[in-house]
Amino acid sequence: MSNITVCARFRPLSSKERQDHGDAVCIQCVDSETFIFKDEKTEELTYSFDRVFYDKSEQTDVYRFLAQPIVQGFYLSRCALTYDTDALNAVNGTIITFGQTGAGKTYSMEGPGILECDAAEKGLLPRVVEGIFECTKLADETSKYSIKLSMVEIYMEKVRDLFDLSRDNIQIKESKTQGIMLNGMTEMPIKDPTEALLTLSKGIGNRAVGETQMNVASSRSHCIYIFTIQQESTKDKRARTGKLNLVDLAGSEKVEKTGAEGRILEEAKTINKSLSALGNVINALTCGPTGRGNHIPYRDSKLTRILQDALGGNSRTALLCCCSPSPTNSLETLSTLRFGARAKHIKASPRVAYEDKCIRELEVFTPVKRELRDKLLN
Ligand code: ADP
Ligand code: MG
Repeated sequence: MSNITVCARFRPLSSKERQDHGDAVCIQCVDSETFIFKDEKTEELTYSFDRVFYDKSEQTDVYRFLAQPIVQGFYLSRCALTYDTDALNAVNGTIITFGQTGAGKTYSMEGPGILECDAAEKGLLPRVVEGIFECTKLADETSKYSIKLSMVEIYMEKVRDLFDLSRDNIQIKESKTQGIMLNGMTEMPIKDPTEALLTLSKGIGNRAVGETQMNVASSRSHCIYIFTIQQESTKDKRARTGKLNLVDLAGSEKVEKTGAEGRILEEAKTINKSLSALGNVINALTCGPTGRGNHIPYRDSKLTRILQDALGGNSRTALLCCCSPSPTNSLETLSTLRFGARAKHIKASPRVAYEDKCIRELEVFTPVKRELRDKLLN
């Protein structure tokens, strides 16, 4: 993979967490890229990501760091590409939110509401919409853009069209010229940001309706927002298409083995399988051309298959690992951080306390040092 940005975001403590553990948190900020994870059950671990957003971070910080380069790169690549390049080589982009239920994935993606919310609280989606339209305004008169929005949900490995709930088992096809396609998926044309927001809100509303019909919680399905951006050149009459996907994943929490049965257990297994498949695909892509990098297991889940064009090849991907800062959720937070670290090929390093380090340095013994060492150890 050319480029994956991995960030961690810690939401503020919830009132339930405050009830359980007061103001206690299991992370300690080092700087904007590094923090220490501390918990009674594990050793202290130092994690570094491309950026860490703490509880005071704002939605605009997340957009600027994580999504804006993808949206702008999208436009710039389009200007720079020569027209004899295959349309499929256009730059695609994917922004993914990962984490346990309640960790802030939907808040990061949508904000508190798509249509009505405080400007500062707007999520990635409305900001991406604005970004896309800003970029198209910069185009010269030889380029014409058309933008379409699709929304699908994956539940129990079935793909459902959120603009037409009767299409509840969309098939994934691959064509040589158009790449991965969702057969019969609705594509809603959007001509301006206002229309885009209304369309998004319709899809989100349909998601809730579908879930009530099926009695499923939204946290148990993956939701994919697909912006298809087509640029037509009036100079040579050629069109080029790129996709920008935003993915609000199903909650990554482990379901207790005891207690879960029937559908809940099946849901948990299916989600786990698709999230592992996503991790494996990202891992294989970041391995590069050597090692395991040659076989990319896209076919292991519907999620990775749909994201195939957007993740592989000429694409940019950003992963936002959403976490709770509370000891109440420390095991799930650790599991989310591990996923992020694995995607980035970063090893968490156990923190070496200052005293330990001094003692270790003294291990090249000289009589004086040995004496000092013994003193320190006692
Ligand atoms: P998820 O989609 O991961 O299940 P949500 O995004 O629905 O979680 O967040 C759970 C709750 O926490 C919501 O009430 C949401 O408003 C709140 N929340 C999440 N992240 C933040 C944040 N960064 N700042 C303020 N509130 C947040
Ligand atoms: Mg959610």
